[in-house]
Amino acid sequence: PAFPVRPVYAPVEPAFCLSERQWELIQWIAETTLCSLFEAASPCLPPGVGQRSVEHLRLRSPDGAGDHQLTRTQQALVDLLAERGETSLEAARKALGRSLTSVVAKLEAAGVIERTARVVSGAPRTPTARYVRLITPDGVDLHRAPAQRRALEVIRRRVALAGDEPIPWHDLVRRPGVTAAALQALAERGVIEILELPSPSAPPAQPRPGAGSTYLTPEQAAAWRTLLAALRAGEPEEFLLHGITGSGKTEIYLRAAAWCVGRGKQVIMLVPEIALAAQTVARFNERFPGQVAVLHSTLPPATRYHTWRAVAEGRIPIVVGPRSALFAPLERVGLVILDEEHEGAYKQDNPPRYHAREVARRLIRQHNAVLLLGSATPDVTTYYAAETGAIRLLELPTRVGPRVLGKRGRPEHRTLDLPEVQVVDMRLELSQGHTHIFSRPLQAALRRAVESGEQAILFLNRRGAATLIQCRACGHVEQCPFCDVPLVYHADQRLLLCHRCNQRQPPPSRCPACGSSAVGYYGTGTQRVEAEVRRLIPGARVLRWDQDALRRGVEHRHLMQRVLRHEVDVIVGTQMVAKGLDFPLVSTVGIINADTLLHLPDIRSAERTFQLLTQVAGRAGRRTPGARVIVQSYTPDHYAIDAASRHDYAAFYREEIAFRRKHGYPPFRRLIRFVYRHPDEVTCQTTAAEVADLLAATADRLGARDVDLLGPTPAFTAKVRGRYQWQILLRGADSHAVASAVDLDPGWAIDVDPLSV
Ligand code: ADP
Ligand code: ZN
Ligand code: ZN
Repeated sequence: PAFPVRPVYAPVEPAFCLSERQWELIQWIAETTLCSLFEAASPCLPPGVGQRSVEHLRLRSPDGAGDHQLTRTQQALVDLLAERGETSLEAARKALGRSLTSVVAKLEAAGVIERTARVVSGAPRTPTARYVRLITPDGVDLHRAPAQRRALEVIRRRVALAGDEPIPWHDLVRRPGVTAAALQALAERGVIEILELPSPSAPPAQPRPGAGSTYLTPEQAAAWRTLLAALRAGEPEEFLLHGITGSGKTEIYLRAAAWCVGRGKQVIMLVPEIALAAQTVARFNERFPGQVAVLHSTLPPATRYHTWRAVAEGRIPIVVGPRSALFAPLERVGLVILDEEHEGAYKQDNPPRYHAREVARRLIRQHNAVLLLGSATPDVTTYYAAETGAIRLLELPTRVGPRVLGKRGRPEHRTLDLPEVQVVDMRLELSQGHTHIFSRPLQAALRRAVESGEQAILFLNRRGAATLIQCRACGHVEQCPFCDVPLVYHADQRLLLCHRCNQRQPPPSRCPACGSSAVGYYGTGTQRVEAEVRRLIPGARVLRWDQDALRRGVEHRHLMQRVLRHEVDVIVGTQMVAKGLDFPLVSTVGIINADTLLHLPDIRSAERTFQLLTQVAGRAGRRTPGARVIVQSYTPDHYAIDAASRHDYAAFYREEIAFRRKHGYPPFRRLIRFVYRHPDEVTCQTTAAEVADLLAATADRLGARDVDLLGPTPAFTAKVRGRYQWQILLRGADSHAVASAVDLDPGWAIDVDPLSV
């Protein structure tokens, strides 16, 4: 150019670009989950980017105000815009030193200026540091300025030694006789320039040799050899690591991760919920100090952004996080791990409604990487894929026990037995006149655990002191007037509460339907269980681990620490305690009512029940032999409960896959769910009927064979926050083609391969 230019060292705000691979992934997600490209791209954006917009002002014509008569402030603003060009409202306000609301409104109305919105990066600014650079050492007269002379002397020597690189400011001002004022003065004279540049990134931590170079059990070794061969081959391949809790799956993850990191490849380790993954994160951090980034949305924005950047710059090879971690900016992925691959949290329930397993599948094809799905209770669709050969199956059927010295002084592994599971038929208890919420075997087991200094977990499916209010005379159940779901009684507030819309009302003293005063609180909540434990074993230290505790600001890790420090004897908890925690002192687990999940109208209710029971049972006896699990049920013969009590995944799978095949459910026929929400019930219903017709006509037009249409019906939850919900299900291989050929209004939510139907 014809004008003098200065060199650019680095952008202060790093530019954000999608890689080719990410762009390809986004298009694929948009197509398969039937969402917009913009929605599909949103998980790829760096934290904070594209989320804030700033108002800008500019003149409509270059002549400024033309013939308009302006007040002094209006004129000042026009002059400012003429001088600076487009300016943010904020900057203009600062420059003129006053609020501009009415001024801007008048000038806009007169057609002199216009407002525009600029989307800005809300990402925290990259940290910068101040530098000094010599422009010219010559021809400057510094006779009467000894401080400047001294400073220039230091800078010159540095340039002579190290070349013309920008010199960190703090290096200079540390030297004797060099002052900030002198440097500023030199800059004003044009001798040096002062620059703000991105501060150098922290050097990557030195990889240390893994702390745990464990000696694998024979089963682990066999699994590892197969996996290793695939990692070496560098071709996309999928594995299901099916191993009961405590069988050493995490150890295999760590091994595979170490292999990748050692070869300059990157690893994505997904967990269903990061708040419950503290122990997994700790094990990765311990094995790979300084090389693990935890990426998730609840971190402070600045931390999140800097972690993201460190990952993008290739400084951290292992990313641990929830499903969104799949979109971390990685270019050399060697391995993707989904721990607890059966967990529902892997599916996102707003657009893009992707399943992490499916995206991971796509990702490993892009990178020629290996996908490792781990679970004690694999999703039946995953196990089916393993059975039919699409995925390779690795099995760890026994628990890793303590290491002992065997013959000839070589270390050997002992296996730990799985806990004994006793199913108690509650109907029988009742018929024998025993009505306590803890059956007699459970009471005995609890007492024994506390007396012998061990810990017990009591597991419950829902919170509230009584989940259900029912009239013993007519059977009426009190429901939320807005949502059509049973209200839950909360003893501490003496209120009935809707868990969907937060409606609160006092409990009725008489049945609203028949007037009887025999209104009973049935069902059991964590508070009630806690109170019963205290009554049964006075002096027992009870910890309640549920949503209420978390709402009071207690964090999972605090609760976890209290359990690990043996500050509690009995833990009373909901779903959360079932997931992945490793408590060595827990010898006893009680499941208060195994039926609560089983009787939900959902095709996966049996699977959920089996998974949950197995997982909760897996909490017991992780380190100590002789552990005991007691399952209370009114339907003890159901295959999900029976199989869980025998730790028999295969038996459960056989029944479940037969059920799915018979009814045409996944994995045999795919489902797509359409849900319409509207505050008016009639509109909701008629719109649903119209769309059902449209879908049927589209299927005809396309000549789609394998598709049928279920519904329209009110959704299982017929009403949410004052809006009715109607749904339509498409079933069959051609349902995706039909669904992508229709154009629906935005009131419709489309869920491809929904997890709950
Ligand atoms: P999972 O992930 O299947 O629940 P883990 O990997 O957590 O199993 O292993 C269970 C316990 O056994 C952990 O305490 C782990 O440190 C230990 N462990 C696993 N593999 C070995 C091994 N090869 N040698 C010694 N201890 C092991
Ligand atoms: Zn009644
Ligand atoms: Zn409600």
